[in-house]
Amino acid sequence: KVSVKDLHKSYGDNEVLKGINLDVQENEVVVMIGPSGSGKSTFLRTLNKLEEPTSGEITINGSNLLDPKTNLNKIRENIGMVFQHFNLFPHLTVLQNVMLAPTELKKADSSEAKKEALDLLDQVGLREKADAMPAQLSGGQKQRVAIARALAMKPSIMLFDEPTSALDPEMVGDVLAVMKDLAEKGMTMIVVTHEMGFAKQVADRVVFFADGYIREQGTPQEVFDNPQDPRAKDFLDKVL
Ligand code: ATP
Ligand code: MG
Repeated sequence: KVSVKDLHKSYGDNEVLKGINLDVQENEVVVMIGPSGSGKSTFLRTLNKLEEPTSGEITINGSNLLDPKTNLNKIRENIGMVFQHFNLFPHLTVLQNVMLAPTELKKADSSEAKKEALDLLDQVGLREKADAMPAQLSGGQKQRVAIARALAMKPSIMLFDEPTSALDPEMVGDVLAVMKDLAEKGMTMIVVTHEMGFAKQVADRVVFFADGYIREQGTPQEVFDNPQDPRAKDFLDKVL
């Protein structure tokens, strides 16, 4: 469970997050939408302290993220993150990419890690690519390996920041299908995406960001069919 209270973040004079309040329940899928520059990525990055918030509170599964005594590495192990650019290690095979973190952090011995990694590759439809190098994969396949790699740490929360924006259109569906499958398995997910079809189908809640605030939130039906905030209306007119 994620709980965010009155979160502010500034870069110099530029206040990017202006008081964000958001609770995400276990098993919930929250899709975040909103115009470019509205603070969606910044918000996601504060959730595992890739960005230091200026003020506010963030609680992840009961641990206060901003308490200096909190073990940040433990929390980060529990939060999987997938970005637009997948950054696989180019000199390692697909299987080695997925196994690396759990073996290095001694979460599993290597035979156990290998079995789990192969299961994860199965889950993302790429078991037969286990021994391929990243350069031999398509963009969509790389992104699915990146998802498997994040899952290898057995996170309880997954954050996705525009995971399909850099992909050729024909690759997008496979990646979204993997994410949908993960949602159906009960993963707690926060997903920034421009894929409105995915939001409608998979989100429990859609959250609309604009200029540093959450301007609107609700079920996909509420937000897409009957938006109240004028900026949300305007944004949806452009993207739907
Ligand atoms: P997009 O849809 O284009 O990805 P976004 O909603 O994810 O946009 P952010 O990337 O969070 O928006 O950026 C919000 C604002 O914060 C922008 O004005 C951006 O220029 C600024 N910003 C982001 N990262 C930094 C940084 N490291 N240093 C200074 N300013 C930053
Ligand atoms: Mg962004």
